[in-house]
Amino acid sequence: ENLEPAREVIVRYNNVKKAFGINIVLNDLNLDVYKGEKVALIGPSGSGKTTIIRMLMTLEQPSSGTIEIDGEHLWHKEVNGQLKDADEKHLRKVRGKIGMVFQQYNLFPHMSIMRNCTEAPIHVLGLSKDEAKERALQMLQKVGLSDKVDMYPSQLSGGQQQRVAIARSLVMQPKVMLFDEVTAALDPELVGEVLEVIKDIASEGETTMMLITHEMDFARDVADRVLFLDNGLIAEHGTPYDVIENP
Ligand code: ADP
Ligand code: ADP
Repeated sequence: ENLEPAREVIVRYNNVKKAFGINIVLNDLNLDVYKGEKVALIGPSGSGKTTIIRMLMTLEQPSSGTIEIDGEHLWHKEVNGQLKDADEKHLRKVRGKIGMVFQQYNLFPHMSIMRNCTEAPIHVLGLSKDEAKERALQMLQKVGLSDKVDMYPSQLSGGQQQRVAIARSLVMQPKVMLFDEVTAALDPELVGEVLEVIKDIASEGETTMMLITHEMDFARDVADRVLFLDNGLIAEHGTPYDVIENP
């Protein structure tokens, strides 16, 4: 008798294919990401990493197959047990379960750091201003920037702005956080502070994360599981030890 609690699947790709015209970019992707798990996606440029997470961000539709988040279909809607194409309203709802941090931090330049972090919780989640501010402050503390709440993005370094972008995303308490090459646009001396912040958040354990990175040391430190993508296929997957140290 197996008494281990079943691990909860947060993200599931089921026979997902993606083609752009005749270019097959992903070939039958099957992947489960579990609650609290950190999955690093590595592999050469053009291997399909970004496409995997863009489909989860609802920015790119799979050519076939299904994607589920937190037990709910992303690109489909269940109507009387049948899968229909999702409408914009459904996509907007499931998008709320996903936090994303990109290369470009995309902060609102005319808003204070605090306000950057409270806009969405107030207007999307319907929190009161005080609740939103409290939650934002907590997250800004996590990324080490609680002393910058009244400053504006242009007054911060790129590394600090990226840390704000991470806090802003966490404030929404997403089911999964997606990080797409978040240090690629930073000056080399600013990369470390951003990776450290992500490692800190990862080490707390609760947040499910999928991370695309070229930083192998970082992938090894942060990930429970590493997927090596090659030409649209998961060529290798396993612990960082299996994939990075002993490929
Ligand atoms: P990676 O993130 O591993 O560099 P991508 O997922 O960005 O790889 O790209 C995989 C392949 O899909 C590449 O051949 C790329 O040219 C192609 N591709 C990605 N996005 C598009 C698009 N919008 N239109 C056409 N081809 C695309
Ligand atoms: P407005 O309606 O012009 O946005 P309010 O009267 O609602 O401003 O807000 C009063 C104060 O609260 C202002 O100092 C404003 O900067 C601040 N504030 C407004 N919205 C937010 C927000 N989303 N997050 C943090 N502070 C805010």
